[in-house]
Amino acid sequence: MVVFDGGGAPLQSEQVVAKVRELGQQPVTHIVVSHWHGDHDYGIFRILDAFPQAQVISHPHTRAKLDGNSLDDTFLTDYIPKIRERIAARTYATGLPISDADVVRYQDILDNASLIDQQQQASKLSYPDITFEDKLTIWSGDREIRLLHLGRSNTAGDVIMYLPAEKIIATGDIDVAPTPYGFGSYPKEWAQSLRTLKLLDHVLLVPGHGDVQRDDAYLDLLIETMDLVSTQMDGLVAQGLDLEAAQAKMDFSAVQNRFTHSDVFLDRLFDIWFKTPITQAAWKVAKGQDPELELE
Ligand SMILES: [Zn+2]
Repeated sequence: MVVFDGGGAPLQSEQVVAKVRELGQQPVTHIVVSHWHGDHDYGIFRILDAFPQAQVISHPHTRAKLDGNSLDDTFLTDYIPKIRERIAARTYATGLPISDADVVRYQDILDNASLIDQQQQASKLSYPDITFEDKLTIWSGDREIRLLHLGRSNTAGDVIMYLPAEKIIATGDIDVAPTPYGFGSYPKEWAQSLRTLKLLDHVLLVPGHGDVQRDDAYLDLLIETMDLVSTQMDGLVAQGLDLEAAQAKMDFSAVQNRFTHSDVFLDRLFDIWFKTPITQAAWKVAKGQDPELELE
C-alpha cells in the first residue's frame, strides 16, 4: 500500500497505521511526502516503525529542506502564555475584542496543551529514500499511481498523486480548504500548476487539508486567487513600491468572501494563513528572493 502524506504528529501516523491494518492492505510499501512542511512529515516515523521496509518518496527540494530543517518544539512555549493573556484581556494581539467563538477555540488549545506538547516532543524528522524531479510511477499490483511535480507552487517541491483509473487526485497543499496556506509560496507558478492539475481527468480531489472536493469550483477559485495575487504584486513592484507599501495596496476583495463567507473566524484565518504570507512571498519572488528561506 502507498500512503500519501502520512501525518504531522506521531498520533496522526498511528491512526494511519491503524487504518491500514483495518483495510487489510499491509504492508505499506511507500510513503509519499508532498512537501517539506512538518505537518506532512513529523509523524511518519511511526509508519516506518510499523512497516520498516517502506520507502519514503519526495521531490529533491523536499529532501533538501527536511535535511536542513530542525523540529520546531517551541510553539507551545511561545504560544500558550499569549493565549492566556488574550483570553484574560479578551482582545486579540491587534487589540480588537476577541469573539466568543475564538475564546472557545483558544480554551480548547489550553485544555489540550499537554497532549500537543507531548506530541511535539515525540515528533521526529524522516528523510526520503527516493527523490524524483517531475514524474514517478508506482505500480501497486495492477493499480497505477502517478506522482507528479507540476511546478513550484506552495513550495518549490510539491508533489501530487494521481490515480488515472480511479480518477482521483491527492493534491498535497497546493489545494487546501477552507483557506489556502500562503507561506513561502510562488503564486504565479502555483496558478499554472493548478491549471495543469485541472486538466488531469478526475472526479475527486483530496486536498492537503479540508474536505474532499467533488467538483472544480474551489480549484477555480484558487487559480483566480493566485492570478490575482501575482498580477497585483507584479504591478506594485513595477511601480517601485516597498513591501509595506505593496502590502497596503493588495486588494483581495474580489475573492475573500468566496473563501470566508464573511465568517469572522475564517476572515482571520484568511488574513493570517493566506493574505499576509502570500503577499510577502509574492513580493520576494517578484524581487528574485527565495520565499521559503525564513520558514525553516
Ligand atoms: Zn499542510
